[in-house]
Amino acid sequence: MIDPFGRDVSYLRVSVTDRCDFRCHYCMAEDMDFLPKAEVLTLEELDRVCSAFVRLGVEKLRITGGEPLVRRNIMWLFTRLARHLESGDLKELALTTNGSQLARFAADLHACGVRRVNVSLDSLDPRKFAEITRGGDLEQVMQGISVAQDSGLEVKINMVALKGVNEDDVDTMLSWCGEQGFDMTLIEVMPLGEIEGGRVEQYLPLSLVRARLEERWTLSDIDHRSGGPARYVKVGETGGRLGFITPLTHNFCESCNRVRLTCTGQLYMCLGREDSADLRAPLRQDDSDSGLESAIIAAIARKPEGHDFVIDRRNPEPALVRHMSVTGG
Ligand code: SAM
Ligand code: SF4
Repeated sequence: MIDPFGRDVSYLRVSVTDRCDFRCHYCMAEDMDFLPKAEVLTLEELDRVCSAFVRLGVEKLRITGGEPLVRRNIMWLFTRLARHLESGDLKELALTTNGSQLARFAADLHACGVRRVNVSLDSLDPRKFAEITRGGDLEQVMQGISVAQDSGLEVKINMVALKGVNEDDVDTMLSWCGEQGFDMTLIEVMPLGEIEGGRVEQYLPLSLVRARLEERWTLSDIDHRSGGPARYVKVGETGGRLGFITPLTHNFCESCNRVRLTCTGQLYMCLGREDSADLRAPLRQDDSDSGLESAIIAAIARKPEGHDFVIDRRNPEPALVRHMSVTGG
């Protein structure tokens, strides 16, 4: 699938639920209204839509959410999708998770062909972790990470940089990732969804974080690309990689190879824009996938050249009202 700007769309991120067992401050409001079940794609529908994308040329699928591992019977979907890995049509089936349920699922995920998991972890201090996630248990996540490692999964840590919240934890996280042999990615807060408290207060430019890290660590730019918007450096002291995702200060759109599907079947061709295509209607219209495939092809033809995020003091409202847990981070 080649879009109008010549980019080969080979990567689909799929949110399988808007629900989560955590309530991270930057992601969700304390009391969220979750979607009625009938609006959310069934596991069978998720399999059909993912399989249609694979037929059309998607080679990498990332399952995300909300928290994908709290969706009931989620392993059914992984088991189904594994057939595309076996046929060679799909090169990678990956997962983004908060880690809380990993101890339970890591071995089965590996058995389905999952090799890489991104675990979100914003602090290694149990008290602070509970505060950021509004009640998350760090010990449970650490246990999940350890079982994932033992099961042969490659773990990458995602950390959202939050001004005045976990600024001082970045250094500790980088050391720990070095010891564990994990790559790490720092993410700037993005203006998605209505939450309490402004984004301007949480926004911490990664240029500043990098400058601070460079007082202690030897960071050298490298060419490594994970197929995403992260720019990577090598950490001299640990040999590990550190990625920076800076959607607000950098333009990564020119190499964007991805689209995102919400748990209700809306396809977003760009994380930073409102335009979406409804794939649930063609999915539910009939059992043949021809209407679905035409809808996907028509949507890719509308993929925009770039996004338009803005957070500034004159414009403190979120640029987009949907939450990351709906679109899939
Ligand atoms: N629950 C899983 C997790 O936390 O990894 C998967 C879904 S979560 C929405 C995916 C990623 O998006 C996480 O790394 C999270 O930190 C990040 N995220 C959520 N809201 C964000 C925001 N407003 N700005 C930047 N990153 C955000
Ligand atoms: Fe849940 Fe992930 Fe959002 Fe945190 S970032 S509330 S773990 S979906």
